[in-house]
Amino acid sequence: MESLWVALRAPSWGREELEAFQSRRLRALVRHAFERVPFYRDLYSRHGVRPEDIRGLEDLPRLPVAMRHEMQDRPLEDLLARGFKRERFIQHRTSGSTGYPFSTYRTWFEERFLHALRLRVQLRRGLRLTDRRAAVVVGHGDRIDGRGTRLARRLGLMRRYCVSCLLPAPEILARLSQYRPDTLGGYPDALAMIASEATEEHRRRIRPRIITTGGETLTPDMRAKISECFGAPVYDTYGAHEFNLLAYQCSETGLYHVAEDCVLLEVMDNGRPVDPGHTGEVVATALHSFAMPFLRYWVGDLAVRGPLRCPCGAPGATLEKILGRVIDRFTLPDGSKLHPYHLLEPLVKEAPWLRRYQLIQEAVNRVLLKLQPLDGVEPRPEDLRRLRASLQAPLGPQVTLELEFVKELPPAGNGKFRPYYSKVRS
Ligand SMILES: [Zn+2]
Repeated sequence: MESLWVALRAPSWGREELEAFQSRRLRALVRHAFERVPFYRDLYSRHGVRPEDIRGLEDLPRLPVAMRHEMQDRPLEDLLARGFKRERFIQHRTSGSTGYPFSTYRTWFEERFLHALRLRVQLRRGLRLTDRRAAVVVGHGDRIDGRGTRLARRLGLMRRYCVSCLLPAPEILARLSQYRPDTLGGYPDALAMIASEATEEHRRRIRPRIITTGGETLTPDMRAKISECFGAPVYDTYGAHEFNLLAYQCSETGLYHVAEDCVLLEVMDNGRPVDPGHTGEVVATALHSFAMPFLRYWVGDLAVRGPLRCPCGAPGATLEKILGRVIDRFTLPDGSKLHPYHLLEPLVKEAPWLRRYQLIQEAVNRVLLKLQPLDGVEPRPEDLRRLRASLQAPLGPQVTLELEFVKELPPAGNGKFRPYYSKVRS
């Protein structure tokens, strides 16, 4: 319940109150994870860390970093806290921006709560509860989102209309024109694509007050194109499935405010925090996740650390930039452009045995998929047949799909490894 209290109070907190909360939460989470989650108990025991050693934020560096691949190696019951009703967990399985598919579990309350914290950011940007929100996101077909309660929907609050980013641009534009959203969200790549194909008529009908992007790198180019087309400011959001919100763009300075009442976020290089202005890997601690704790968890994205305080006056730490989540569409022999999510979705669904992957379009008619299975796991021939069929469908018959099993892929996080890209110039 402290979470609720925090959500209400945190916006008015100064630095001191924020850090007192973070310290309190960190202590509680470490004790909880040590007592109830075998993965953390083993990790901390191996490194000689006892819960009583962690008295507050100043002791955070004593905790070993929890690597995603180490978590992947453990059975699920070693990652989830004892004493929760598992059948009610909400699962998110993601292809991962770093090429590691991974599942995250939360209780109903945790899930709603994290959404509420994200919503709070949107409200501060000018969202109204009566707004018609539209999102261009991954998925098949349209859906009216069921996240709000039934009562809220009946009152016409928190309406959200999702359009699949995998549809052709004119189709997405037609649906948005019909819905006439007050706010528009989605992947930068998808919004930039529809912006370049929007007609005068579309622009007249799609007039959002606020546009938010997330999930991939938003380049200055994309931002300008999207903002100019739909006539609204664009705010970028940085999140990860394991955490929901990590940071969000400041409307005054363009820096990213770390969502410090939700997470502790570190930017590290070789086990040490980098100075402001320098690049490192993101390591984060979820302050509201008890069912499946993430403590000093390696997120793997590259980010440039920003100044310790945002010049706008907000009390929290900042990021300057999030790097390396660039999407290449695959140009197919018929000239159409395939978003890699078309392939990643069936991949994570059909290959639960996968540790990592890399998807490379080598030529217009040839795609190479490198697969690194979990240790000691060998997929059965029928699993591979099913996987191949589900990937071949979006590629079409003219494209050859090659599967290559590898022992190891280059480490993510050095800025050079990209989980999906195309060598075809489009
Ligand atoms: Zn700011």
